[in-house]
Amino acid sequence: MSLSVRQRRILADMGIPVWRSRIALEDKTEAVAPPAESVLVAGERAEVVDAGAPGAAVDTLDWEALETRVRGCHACAELARERTQTVFGVGDPRARWLFVGEAPGAEEDRRGEPFVGRAGQLLDNMLWALGLDRSRDVFIANLLKCRPPGNRDPKPQESAACRGFLDRQIELIQPEVIVALGRVAAHALLATDEPLGRLRGTEQRYQGVPLIVTYHPAYLLRTPGDKARAWQDLQRARTCLSKPLTD
Ligand code: URA
Repeated sequence: MSLSVRQRRILADMGIPVWRSRIALEDKTEAVAPPAESVLVAGERAEVVDAGAPGAAVDTLDWEALETRVRGCHACAELARERTQTVFGVGDPRARWLFVGEAPGAEEDRRGEPFVGRAGQLLDNMLWALGLDRSRDVFIANLLKCRPPGNRDPKPQESAACRGFLDRQIELIQPEVIVALGRVAAHALLATDEPLGRLRGTEQRYQGVPLIVTYHPAYLLRTPGDKARAWQDLQRARTCLSKPLTD
């Protein structure tokens, strides 16, 4: 029997464990903890190691253990060397809404919290317009937990190495809707390189959870004319709440 996110949450609230099939879990383990070789591109130095090492597999960790694992992660040598700290995320780990950005910037790296610069202020305003507060009603995370130096785009092998952390966050949060903020997050989550304009406007799914793609707040700061479209996206995301899962 397949359970909706809401049903699982209610069962969890009642202290009733929800079992998942071993096959599904094994498949998942494969997906979240790729061996180092599988995330390297030709000619690149082998500086990425298994993000799950050492100890238990990432997809078995509880929230606290996951946060600790992220804090101590050295899977991407350059990022681990250059960061001030990892940026795990902010908000309610049981939120109905999950917002996923790209990677921490300079200010986020300094403060250890995602979206705290100007783009973050805009995101907070958009949340406020929806009646949501970042500390209470949503969880905000990034694809990468470390700042790429110079705010460059994440490298594919960095996204792959960090992916297990985001996937485990999603499993533990069990959001009712995921909002992908911008091209990088949308492409990584949906494993596509379709233009953002084509991904917007229709409901996508990530691991069965409705996923809405919208513009990155930093883009909206540069292109305020698209704010109305972003607002439409968020309205669409709101309609996804409480929808039962079908797959
Ligand atoms: N941009 C992102 O994608 N994430 C942040 O945390 C900040 C800026």
